[in-house]
Amino acid sequence: MSKHTFSNEIKQKALLLGFDLCGISTIEELNAEKKFLEKWLKQNYHGDMAYMARNIDKRVNPSLLVDGTQSVISVLLNYFPQNNLHPESHYKISKYALGTDYHYVIKDKLKKLMEFIEQHYPNTPMRAFTDSAPVLDKSWALKSGLGWMGKNTLLINKKMGSFFFIGEIIIGMDLQADSPLEKEYCGNCTKCIDACPTDALKDPYVMDATKCISYLTIESKDDIPIELVPKLNNWIFGCDICQDVCPWNSKVQPSTESSFKISDELALMKKHDWEEIEKPQFKKLFKSSPVERSGYKKLKTVIDLIKNTSQP
Ligand code: SF4
Ligand code: SF4
Repeated sequence: MSKHTFSNEIKQKALLLGFDLCGISTIEELNAEKKFLEKWLKQNYHGDMAYMARNIDKRVNPSLLVDGTQSVISVLLNYFPQNNLHPESHYKISKYALGTDYHYVIKDKLKKLMEFIEQHYPNTPMRAFTDSAPVLDKSWALKSGLGWMGKNTLLINKKMGSFFFIGEIIIGMDLQADSPLEKEYCGNCTKCIDACPTDALKDPYVMDATKCISYLTIESKDDIPIELVPKLNNWIFGCDICQDVCPWNSKVQPSTESSFKISDELALMKKHDWEEIEKPQFKKLFKSSPVERSGYKKLKTVIDLIKNTSQP
């Protein structure tokens, strides 16, 4: 089978497995990304996320992750939910975290895609990743033409907007690469930068993660600075503001992936329920969800902080 034909077969299989888009890029050292990352780390924009500063060589050179690697297969999976929290929830959770943890869902699909490749070409070296190892997901998706880098630092696709997960297979096979987009489509827009309540978007394409609500409510090990609490805008896990205001997300279709559906119990939570939440209920509500990983204590601390600093 020709390289061109098999690359197309991989893409078709990815769509059959439920991915929304699939693109392919050729392995290269990510030198420009390395420079950007080093500068970003020097400014300490990563805060407590020490893992960001580890394995930089592997991040920019995937051949250190998979021997003999030649290509990257990138996939996108829409997570925009059919339904969100109750209108009287008051507190908000990032859309990506309303259903089952994407790591499980994407890894499962990527495993099936690797089995498909293995059936045709046994013993091909390859590994699947989704936000789970030192891989610059956005850079590879960008190189394979799946979108452009938005000023909010997220990958944006004309049809899908930005509410999607990215996964990839790094593979020792010479596949037919796609071309990156010739231009980006943010233009003169600055809506995401203007809307960010904590000024985390320092400049277009540069985020000070230590100021981002997602970092403050999920990653940070320190207490949230008291002056930033009113700026959380009642987000208790993550933040979607810079995506919600993006014009490219105005016509996004909900995901058809059943694992990302919000549970009835979570959809019924109201303000009072959040403020009274105890550990057993947390465990039930967030079993196998991204919220489970940061834990009850973190969520409860954020809720209490917001509750205690808001006007009566
Ligand atoms: S997720 Fe929220 S806090 Fe973070 S950069 Fe976007 S708007 Fe700002
Ligand atoms: S809001 Fe505007 S500037 Fe920001 S990512 Fe979307 S299109 Fe780009």
